[in-house]
Amino acid sequence: MTNDENDKNDKDEKIGFLQRRWVLPAALGAAVLVGGVVGAGVFLLAGSPSHEDRSAAHRAAKPRPAAPAKVDCHVRKCIALTFDDGPVTGTAKLLDILKAHGAHATFFVLGQQVANNQDILKREATEGHQIGNHTFDHAKLTGAPKAKVEDELIRTQEAILQATGTTPTVMRPTYGYSDKQLNGIAKEMGLAQILWTVDTLDWKDRNTALVTKRVLAGAKPGHIVIMHDIRPTSVAAMPGILDALTKQGYAFVTVSELYGGTLVPGDRYPPFLGSPTAGPAPPM
Ligand SMILES: [Zn+2]
Repeated sequence: MTNDENDKNDKDEKIGFLQRRWVLPAALGAAVLVGGVVGAGVFLLAGSPSHEDRSAAHRAAKPRPAAPAKVDCHVRKCIALTFDDGPVTGTAKLLDILKAHGAHATFFVLGQQVANNQDILKREATEGHQIGNHTFDHAKLTGAPKAKVEDELIRTQEAILQATGTTPTVMRPTYGYSDKQLNGIAKEMGLAQILWTVDTLDWKDRNTALVTKRVLAGAKPGHIVIMHDIRPTSVAAMPGILDALTKQGYAFVTVSELYGGTLVPGDRYPPFLGSPTAGPAPPM
C-alpha cells in the first residue's frame, strides 16, 4: 500500500469514526440545549477523539479472526459451496439466488477483479459470505520467486481490505498447487489454504446439467465443492442444486463455518488431502 493510500485510509477511518461519534453527542446536545454551555462542551469533547480511540478504529479494519460459526456442522449436514475467479457482473445474479435460498458460500476472488466490481464484493461480505484470496491475476504460485508469490497475495489482501474493510483468512492456491514456500508465506500472512473435494470441472464443460449432476453425485456432509462464478452455466445450475440439497437437509456454510472457525494459517484443507484430487471427506 502506498503512503497516499495509507493517508486516505486514515482519513476515511477518521471520517467514519467521527460520524459515529457525532450521533450520540448530537442527541445529548439537543437534550441539554437549554444549558447551551454544557452542550457545547459535549460537542467539543466529541470532536477530539483520543489516541486510544483512533487506534481502536484503526484496529477495526485490520485482519480479524473468523467469525464464530453460526451453524454447528457436528449437528447439521453441512456443505461448503465455493466460487473462484470473480467477482464479475454475473456474480450479482448468483448472490440473488444464494440469498433466496438462505445459503452462504465462499468466494475466492482475484485481486485484479476487485477494482471494477467493488459493490459486488461488498455485497458478498455484507450478505454473510466468506471472501478468500485467489491471487491477483491467477498466477501459478509454485516454483515462483518468493517476492512474486508475496506480491500476488498481498495485493489481493489489500484490494479486498480496501473494498470490504476486512482481510481474508483463507486462500485457494491457483490450480490447487502448493509447495513449501507457499505454505510458509500463507502461514506468515495468516491464510489457511482451502482445496476442494467435489470438482465440478465447470470451467471445462460449461454445461448446466453436468454441473448439477456432479454436485449432487458428490455431495456429502463436510464436502467442499469448487465452481466458478465467472461461468453463467454454473450460476444457472444453482437454483436446482440448492433446491435438491435443501430437500436433503443440507446447510450451506462458509469454509470457516465448515471447520468450526478453527482453520490454521498455512495448513491445507481438507487436512487429509495430500493432493487436490477429490476424495471422501471424514465425517464432521
Ligand atoms: Zn481459479
